[in-house]
Amino acid sequence: MFSVFRQRIERAGLAPVAPQAVDTLPPLPEQALAMPRLQLDDEQLQADPRAGFPFPDPSFMGGEDRALAHLAQYLARKLPHSYKATRNGLYGIDYSSKLSPWLACGALSPRYVLQQLKTFEAEQGASDGSYWLWFELLWRDYFKLLQCQYGRRLYRAGGLPGKSAPPHDAVAFLRWRCGETGQPLVDAGMRELAATGYLGNRMRQIVASYLIYDLQCDWRAGAAWFESALIDYDCSVNHGNWLYIAGLGTDPRGGRRFNLEKQTAEHDADGAYRACWRAA
Ligand SMILES: Cc1cc2nc3c(=O)[nH]c(=O)nc-3n(C[C@H](O)[C@H](O)[C@H](O)COP(=O)(O)OP(=O)(O)OC[C@H]3O[C@@H](n4cnc5c(N)ncnc54)[C@H](O)[C@@H]3O)c2cc1C
Repeated sequence: MFSVFRQRIERAGLAPVAPQAVDTLPPLPEQALAMPRLQLDDEQLQADPRAGFPFPDPSFMGGEDRALAHLAQYLARKLPHSYKATRNGLYGIDYSSKLSPWLACGALSPRYVLQQLKTFEAEQGASDGSYWLWFELLWRDYFKLLQCQYGRRLYRAGGLPGKSAPPHDAVAFLRWRCGETGQPLVDAGMRELAATGYLGNRMRQIVASYLIYDLQCDWRAGAAWFESALIDYDCSVNHGNWLYIAGLGTDPRGGRRFNLEKQTAEHDADGAYRACWRAA
């Protein structure tokens, strides 16, 4: 269980291990150098102004330099302090750290993030918000741990308990994937995902729960769609979250069903997010 894992880590008072610095890398293999490079035309390089992670924008492009600069500005603006209050946001950039794409592709070391967060707390004071950012980063570690612990068992249709295969409705799945379920909040989320490759954590939970519990679809189909669409796709983290919501992982509550009406009232009461991602 995550809470047991967290308590043990906290009790042990583990200090962040410094990331290993590498001064020089061996040259790329010949085959890699000969591979054709992806060509993007100007139109594809336009950032969607509605995107939570507007990656064609120079500050959100790939690579370690951008990742370090993004983390530095996030800490310099003291955003960890407001993280707990804003992390469930649906719209904008600063409601969460937006570190995930760089973490997922290895451009940013989680050890380095932790080290920087601890330095931030030493200089600016720890707060509920900075703790909560650490807490969420620990979820990432936790899913990595589950991957090491259970390996292929995590990928069975019936998850860790080895239950029978879930039901599936291919037509409902297609409607969900295309943002055409008729549920405005779910459809807005699925459109944002398809258009930008990013979705905030709350919306990921809402659309995943809707697919599993309301549409009675196989959680693995949802995980596969996320895999193909997410700019921050990370195998163990994506799979772990889907399993958790489906109640086939280590959730002591046996799954997370989100009430759509309640979620809409709590997170998009004014309808701004739904309006932003309304079908053209
Ligand atoms: C169904 C589902 C699928 C997901 N698939 C992925 C995925 O493929 N790749 C991915 O990186 N995250 C995934 N997440 C977790 C989470 O939604 C994203 O990490 C987060 O939205 C990324 O934005 P951020 O960097 O601004 O996060 P922040 O809220 O700023 O969190 C900081 C960091 O903590 C970690 N983190 C936050 N929430 C979680 C979480 N629930 N589980 C594990 N780590 C977390 C991430 O590394 C994140 O970058 C998924 C969540 C759900 C519910």
